[in-house]
Amino acid sequence: MKLRIWTTLFLVTIAQVAWGQTSTNPKLVNAEATEPSVNGYTVLGATFEQETLLRAQIRIMQPDVYPLRVLFVPHRKYVDTARTFRLHVPAGYTSAMFTHLPSRSVFIDSDRYVSDDSLGYWVAHELGHLAANSASESDADKAARDYRKHLKDAPKPHVH
Ligand SMILES: [Zn+2]
Repeated sequence: MKLRIWTTLFLVTIAQVAWGQTSTNPKLVNAEATEPSVNGYTVLGATFEQETLLRAQIRIMQPDVYPLRVLFVPHRKYVDTARTFRLHVPAGYTSAMFTHLPSRSVFIDSDRYVSDDSLGYWVAHELGHLAANSASESDADKAARDYRKHLKDAPKPHVH
């Protein structure tokens, strides 16, 4: 029962976010007018350590387009959500995360969270989808290249 209520609330939230997006094309927004706010996105369902690390890594990557929200969800919920959005999660990938472009939401499978190192690597890919505004894996990887370079060059964030 609780799960059902949560699911409904969750989908309503996503719908509202998607709705609010219709008038905002990130590509048309002047960088001066809207300085991307590093903390202007929501992280849900993560542990304190995961959220701290995620925010530190995204700050280092300096993505062209920030997500509106990043949601850590249990595996079952993750699969359900992917199905709801009719998303194809490519088999060659660890499939531990995906991005819903219309709502700029990144979903992370919290049961398949592998390691802190792989988090940044795969989040870079998802940020690549957002930057390219494309569902294409090669577009995402192309955009992710710079982000991964930033990550590699940066000193390890201290999150203990
Ligand atoms: Zn992808």
